[in-house]
Amino acid sequence: MKIICIGRNYAAHAAELRHELPKEPVFFLKPDTALVKSNRPVYIPDFTNELHYELELVVKICKVGKCIPEKFAHTYWDEVALGIDLTARDLQRQQSEKGLPWEMAKSFDNSAPISAFFPKTKFGDGNAISFHLDLNGKTVQQGNSANMIFSVDKIITYVSRFFTLKHGDMIFTGTPAGVGPLAIGDLMEAYLEGEKVLKCRVK
Ligand code: MG
Repeated sequence: MKIICIGRNYAAHAAELRHELPKEPVFFLKPDTALVKSNRPVYIPDFTNELHYELELVVKICKVGKCIPEKFAHTYWDEVALGIDLTARDLQRQQSEKGLPWEMAKSFDNSAPISAFFPKTKFGDGNAISFHLDLNGKTVQQGNSANMIFSVDKIITYVSRFFTLKHGDMIFTGTPAGVGPLAIGDLMEAYLEGEKVLKCRVK
């Protein structure tokens, strides 16, 4: 199982980090050891002084595919969840300035708290799903997948040129604006179409 993460997929978030809008999807991978399930807490790693939350819609791949045409891409994902792409922003900045890969800043153990998955059919065609993140009871991020620069189907088509997608692979589809730092004791609560599906305490 692999976790594919899309960067800069909402215009307002790209702007808040002063990035240009991408012409093609930007992506990176996380290992399976990144996942944190069942509302377990996360710990701030000792190698960062600036751990950020990024709430993202996550989709699960339901069959094997390679070079998937966009018109068929919707048949390759059948479940959705919410996940948090925890990011060591200070390390990411250092790596980016040197033109180096982001993995140490993005793909460390426990960098991906995730909710349970729900059938896509619960949300129409799955292409206009709203979600938000509360930090200590205050809403800090609000998104709707209809505002993604690259739709889930476009992401699947693009990524599958490089990687064979397999049953159970997950795609973190990018974060909307409003990312920010976490401190010990913080409580993140994520809502999918208004329903709380993920709770994660920072320790
Ligand atoms: Mg992200």
